[in-house]
Amino acid sequence: MNRRSFLWGASLAAMARQAVAQEAKQGGGRGGRRGMMGGDSGRGLQPLDGGKIGNAGAMKITDIKTFLVGAGGRNWVYVKILTDQGIHGIGEAYSAGPDEATVKVIEDFKLWLVGNDPRNVQYLFDVMYNTTRFPGGLIVNSAISGIEHALWDIAGKSAGVPVWALLGGRTRNKIRTYQSTGGATPQQAGENAKAMIEKYGYTALKMGIQAPGAMPYNQTIRDTVAHVKAVREAVGPDIDIGVDVHAKFFEAQRAIRLGNAIAEFNPMWMEESIRTENFAAMKKVSDHVNIPLASGECNYMIHEFRPLLELQALDFVQPDICCCGGMLTMKKIAAMAEAQYIMVAPHNPMSPLATAVNVHFAASTPNFYILEYSAPDSGARKDVLKEPIMVKKDGYVDIPNKPGWGVELNEEAFKSMPPAPWKRGTSFRSDGSPYFQ
Ligand SMILES: [Mg+2]
Repeated sequence: MNRRSFLWGASLAAMARQAVAQEAKQGGGRGGRRGMMGGDSGRGLQPLDGGKIGNAGAMKITDIKTFLVGAGGRNWVYVKILTDQGIHGIGEAYSAGPDEATVKVIEDFKLWLVGNDPRNVQYLFDVMYNTTRFPGGLIVNSAISGIEHALWDIAGKSAGVPVWALLGGRTRNKIRTYQSTGGATPQQAGENAKAMIEKYGYTALKMGIQAPGAMPYNQTIRDTVAHVKAVREAVGPDIDIGVDVHAKFFEAQRAIRLGNAIAEFNPMWMEESIRTENFAAMKKVSDHVNIPLASGECNYMIHEFRPLLELQALDFVQPDICCCGGMLTMKKIAAMAEAQYIMVAPHNPMSPLATAVNVHFAASTPNFYILEYSAPDSGARKDVLKEPIMVKKDGYVDIPNKPGWGVELNEEAFKSMPPAPWKRGTSFRSDGSPYFQ
């Protein structure tokens, strides 16, 4: 596209945006309040009893703000929804790479949501999901997820209860967590794993594998076995060890060979043993290894997870609450998994706000197993929330008991955390061709 046509396209988009905003202002049309709240057009959700929900008064979304925060090498994308009752809600969208794009999508959804009651979470999810029509990818689904979190935070604060209390209440007293570790050599990996377990009291950890692209395949197997063996010997027989392949293998058969090679060390699971687009290939792996398998961080919405779960190709499913669709979608995925006797171990590499959201999911979900976690005791993790949820000395975290998520963004700290463009580095095979990682 040349510059002239690009500018023409941009001005057309700006005009369309203006038109939608004008419709919303006037209370009509596809994005207008009357269109979605009912009003005299009769379309969309009609307020009950003047908009009251139980004893809580009527409420409307007045604004949706975003914060793009530099986390040291990566950005975190936050959503803040404001209401006419002075209650606000916060959420986190996945850091997709082109994070500015996620911010733009959130700003677009704002046109559809302002004027609505934020407590009708499923309805507003449906408005966003149906409005896009085409199934979203990482950016759209991350925007939906971050907004949805903020709606839940408002719903909890409005009712005066933690979000977990709106999701069926607690099923447990505390939340089990694990953290990732590594090391360039097997000896370093063992020492690092032992030090981390001793410091935080974790009952589980996760480790990556040596990159298979730049070295002979047999060497990848040998190196991975040596690392897993060293970590197992360092932490003892009863610490759970997740081995994350990060979909670095393309061929199912090679993932099978790796799985069988590490089986003697009793891993908690082998994670993303191959890429996630081909469920039949994932089933092939599960049919030929004798260790638990985990995957799901790259999948979205109930419609992708249903066939994956029905295949019985996994023992642990790992949706990410910042991109899979949000809390309600996670609960639905968990329910489908429960019916398949599959546990949920949420993927959670984002910020301490994502951890807080996941803790409410974990508290209320019977087939929750363990939460990915990074202790917020250094760097950006220490600063982005006023009171991040800190692991206790037994490897578990407490369940918040304040209204909403029970945590708040430290917006003052954001002033010294400017965002920077971020994208994944590319890995190359020895012949120069890039590989998935
Ligand atoms: Mg992973």
